[in-house]
Amino acid sequence: MIKVNEIFYSLQGEGYHTGTPSVFVRLSGCNLRCAFCDTQHEAGTPMSIPAIVHEVMRYPVARLIVLTGGEPALWVDEALLTALHLTGKRIAIETNGTRHLPEGIDWVTLSPKTGMQGGDLQPLVLTRCDELKVVYVGQELSQYDHITAQHRFLQPCYCDDVTLREQNMRATVEAVMTHPGWRLSLQTHRVLNIR
Ligand code: SF4
Repeated sequence: MIKVNEIFYSLQGEGYHTGTPSVFVRLSGCNLRCAFCDTQHEAGTPMSIPAIVHEVMRYPVARLIVLTGGEPALWVDEALLTALHLTGKRIAIETNGTRHLPEGIDWVTLSPKTGMQGGDLQPLVLTRCDELKVVYVGQELSQYDHITAQHRFLQPCYCDDVTLREQNMRATVEAVMTHPGWRLSLQTHRVLNIR
């Protein structure tokens, strides 16, 4: 059984697939404790793989499944991936990169939390991904140079404190303009007020 926090249909709000209709499978729990974490992922219901597939198939028009969390790599294995691939949809994962991933994932979004408060409880083990998405709070970007990625995104860290939030946004824009190997990612679901 896999502890599932929620399964829902929406648009991907961030990164390369921004705006893409996707079925989100949010798995429960995380092995890090980032101070800025705003995801309510701990609650969950144990579900069998067929039950997860059944729920995903409630959204037949969606072409993309996004495995997210928490840290989905705590749960994802080849059996789940094989079953989800039978839906005909592509499978993406959003991971903090502290666990090795099984084969068969179509798109890996790596969002390392190293160097951030609560993000160093486990070392980074992934060094290759399709998309590197860094939550930016002004950290040194050269620490990500060893990571191979087709796309590199900086995303301002969202804070409830408006002053800090605007400071992070300005710093992120400045960082992208001075490091053109990176592009800006925004949490567009916040702007649209969707999940
Ligand atoms: S890795 Fe992501 S889900 Fe886990 S604590 Fe950090 S921000 Fe939250």
